Amino acid sequence: MSGPVIAVDGPSAAGKGTLARALAAALGLPYLDTGLLYRAVARKLHAEGGDPGDADAAARAARRLQPADLAREDLRAATIDRAASQVAALGEVRAALLGFQRDFAARAGAVLDGRDIGTVIFPDATLKLFVTASPEERARRRWRERVARGEVVTLAAVAAELAERDARDAARAAAPLRPAEDALVIDTTQLDAEAVLAAAMAIAAARLNRSQPLTSPA
Ligand code: C5P
Repeated sequence: MSGPVIAVDGPSAAGKGTLARALAAALGLPYLDTGLLYRAVARKLHAEGGDPGDADAAARAARRLQPADLAREDLRAATIDRAASQVAALGEVRAALLGFQRDFAARAGAVLDGRDIGTVIFPDATLKLFVTASPEERARRRWRERVARGEVVTLAAVAAELAERDARDAARAAAPLRPAEDALVIDTTQLDAEAVLAAAMAIAAARLNRSQPLTSPA
């Protein structure tokens, strides 16, 4: 029996990465940002001159992914955002990345953030959180991040890019972005990172305690 698996799904810039990292640290669990997998596939394809719409080339890149590919500094570049959501719409790419995500949590459990962790990767996760916020607030957060990195970009451009990416993630046939039926939704529009963590920890404590008698010997 592995340790607990906590799924943290939601749209871009809702605060799920911040929450998932903090939850993993607080609970002593390994953490995986699954968006990095799709970003790494997009970057590999781009570096090889491939097209993010070429399903065969993208699936080959996904099958060749190595852990070191996830550690690259350039995966969060804005140029990778769109290509990552394009390769993520390809069923072959998603299938090639499934095993890595399940293996990651197999031994000790894990906190994973993404779009389909609670719906597809771990439908039996111990706890499923769906983290969201208003589109305006998410655009403001992402814009502030990019300006802080020294980019010259308008709030309107960031809002349009986020809307395009979220629409593609939600409309695709393969593992679309949506809350699992048994996910608990946390709306972070009015909350800072500390308040989001406190809300999630309260939910996690209740859920993990409740599952204790099921997993420990009588
Ligand atoms: O979370 P992040 O913005 O880094 O993810 C980049 C892209 O990867 C998303 O727009 C989405 O298309 C895709 N993704 C996904 N499933 C996941 C994680 C990310 O489809 N579990």
